[in-house]
Amino acid sequence: MPLSLYNTYSKKDEQLVTLTPKQVTMYTCGPTVYGRPHIGNYSSFLMADLLRRWLEVSGYQVKHVKNITDVGHLLHDSDHGDDKIQKQAETEKLHPLEIARRYTEQYLEDEKALNMLEPMARPRASEFIKEQLAIIKVLLEKGNAYETDDGIYFAVETFPHYGALSGNTLQNLNAGARVGVDEKKKHPADFALWKKCVGDNGRHVLRWKFSTGEVSQSSGEDASSGFPGWHIECSAMSSSLLGDQIDLHTGGEDNIFPHHECEIAQSECATGKQFVRLWLHKRRIDLGDAKMSKSLGNILTVPDIVEKGYSPLDLRYYLLSVHYRTNLKFAWKGMDDARKARTKIVEWIRECVTFSAGKGSDDSKKNFAEDFADAMNGDLNTPQALAVIFDCMAWSRNQKGWSTESLSALSSFIEEVKTTFGCFEPESQAEPVPDDVLSLIKDREAARAAKDFKESDRLRDAIKDRGWDVKDTAQGQTIKEAR
Ligand SMILES: [Zn+2]
Repeated sequence: MPLSLYNTYSKKDEQLVTLTPKQVTMYTCGPTVYGRPHIGNYSSFLMADLLRRWLEVSGYQVKHVKNITDVGHLLHDSDHGDDKIQKQAETEKLHPLEIARRYTEQYLEDEKALNMLEPMARPRASEFIKEQLAIIKVLLEKGNAYETDDGIYFAVETFPHYGALSGNTLQNLNAGARVGVDEKKKHPADFALWKKCVGDNGRHVLRWKFSTGEVSQSSGEDASSGFPGWHIECSAMSSSLLGDQIDLHTGGEDNIFPHHECEIAQSECATGKQFVRLWLHKRRIDLGDAKMSKSLGNILTVPDIVEKGYSPLDLRYYLLSVHYRTNLKFAWKGMDDARKARTKIVEWIRECVTFSAGKGSDDSKKNFAEDFADAMNGDLNTPQALAVIFDCMAWSRNQKGWSTESLSALSSFIEEVKTTFGCFEPESQAEPVPDDVLSLIKDREAARAAKDFKESDRLRDAIKDRGWDVKDTAQGQTIKEAR
């Protein structure tokens, strides 16, 4: 069964057919670094990380780009209000780039703790100003954009497919836009590609000359200087690093509108090509009765989770154990269950290392790898994939013996599971079983098979001397660190 994913654009499951065989280009909308990202943000990045891992396990080469927004993201995702980073800089009395640096550091720390793979690139919006301006200039030339005294706007009426991703057609938007309409815009849904440093934005510190894209030194009112709107950065960084067309674009569901709708409009008008083949969105996380959101003030961060005694990998398991298109209501009971389930799997994996082939013959042939792949290929059905792991666990513990073939199938299945989920490595304080202990276990297995119990006991003591307890079970030996 080939990989199929739910495409938010077409609103159906679609088989992934990539632009280049066996290669995937994938763009993930990263965080706006004006505060430590919360676990709702990470749940979306984890979905992208899981997808990338599964694509790699399936034999694709993945070019993954994940941006960092350090300028231009206005409050409430709209064209009004302050730039989130500028505002935070004023609150903390620091330079905006210092704010961006501080929270980028925290973000990268959290990503590492959550065991996310490093993307091919982590472009920053402030480092791609020329590329953003190049697109804006094309849109002006083609008549898709126009200038007002406070900025440059995209004219949504010039793009007939506007609203196709989110369902927010121009008709709907027009009806809902009675209040707060910016008179200078031609249509209420027109969105900013560029904001000039005039009016409230006269105090914006990060600014560039529109004509050259060079950093502008002036301060105060200056209509020739400005900064990019939020949406344009992703179009620019995606096309600069991955090409005009990409296979996959991911984000949280609140990116669908306006952010991704606007990305599609500006990219497709600039290039004349389909921008993204398949759009994936992570459903939101609720905390209590409301959506987890920084602006609502009800958020949890990775350090909050760690402070309660959980591993970041318990959180990773929890967030991935729910299907990405299910709205998760965060609960501490859920964290407890996740920790228990993850520990069971980690312990089982450690147990499997000590199984050895040769004693008895197996087995009811079962293809867990295939069942696991079917689950993952069915729109990343992680609950089903985890159920396959637990089935395999129960089955392996009932085995009376191992053939070389079934043991190697088991160990390659386990490798696949570990790579895909990324949370079944033992914690750093739990050492992997050392090679000399493993070799004693193999010797002991042989001694037991030959019914040489004296030698078997001697080896048990030798293993104990090295700090490990061995236990004999119906399935063979299992091993744990002596405490
Ligand atoms: Zn984006």
